[in-house]
Amino acid sequence: MLKVGEKLYEGKAKILYATEDPNLVVQYFKDDATAFNAQKRGTILGKGAVNNQISARLFQWLEQAGIPTHFVQQLSEREMLVKRLQIIPLEVTMRNITAGGMSRMLGIDEGLVLEPPVFEWHYKSDALGDPLINDDHILALALATAQELETIRRLSSKVNDTLKTYFAARRIDLVDFKLEFGRHPADSSRLGAGRQGQLLLGDEISPDTCRFWEQGTKKKLDKDRFRRDLGDVEAAYQEMLKRVVG
Ligand code: UDP
Repeated sequence: MLKVGEKLYEGKAKILYATEDPNLVVQYFKDDATAFNAQKRGTILGKGAVNNQISARLFQWLEQAGIPTHFVQQLSEREMLVKRLQIIPLEVTMRNITAGGMSRMLGIDEGLVLEPPVFEWHYKSDALGDPLINDDHILALALATAQELETIRRLSSKVNDTLKTYFAARRIDLVDFKLEFGRHPADSSRLGAGRQGQLLLGDEISPDTCRFWEQGTKKKLDKDRFRRDLGDVEAAYQEMLKRVVG
């Protein structure tokens, strides 16, 4: 039986705990919800359990499609065992349909189909509001190597293809989503300038990190219901759980 150890890190939606194995950590999913760089805070009852189960299912599905992830095993309703990662401070956004930040930035309507899909890098910084950056910023600031950028782009595109098909079969349009990658093992002494370490997809994939629109009705089944005070927030998360694991 796995012994859960000290708290390593508490984020906005998850807590990471150490285990006896330095290469493995437990990811605990909370009901806490934040939006607009944590200016809006609240609770979505049952969200932690939903996001854990959806993420577990999607990581397994992506592994089968050949995408290396940090997922090891679902431990309980709210806990997942994952490989320890040194998270690269980048957020990858993939967009299939305009919404949210892209619509705001370019002054365009939501709901326009993007072909080809749009790939974006954001610098992971709450204080700065996760600003949009490009490859040159990343290389000049040594946030990741050229090879890592190439691998992340290739894997993200494959994640998009795989998940679009997965959700289409469940009558859901995958509008956009955010991914984070990291290096495993997270033993920092082995991850110096050489930046060795296997690149793995980390974090979570859930209604907190994706936009899901029901096909036909275009009903939003994701965190936009919380961000925009649309009501039926809990029901939307439960509906997505049903579609994914049901
Ligand atoms: N997203 C996320 N974390 C962030 C920012 C965005 O998970 O810190 C997700 C968000 O749920 C959406 C996608 O990434 O599915 C694109 O978000 P966008 O850039 O449009 O930003 P937003 O409108 O949420 O500010």
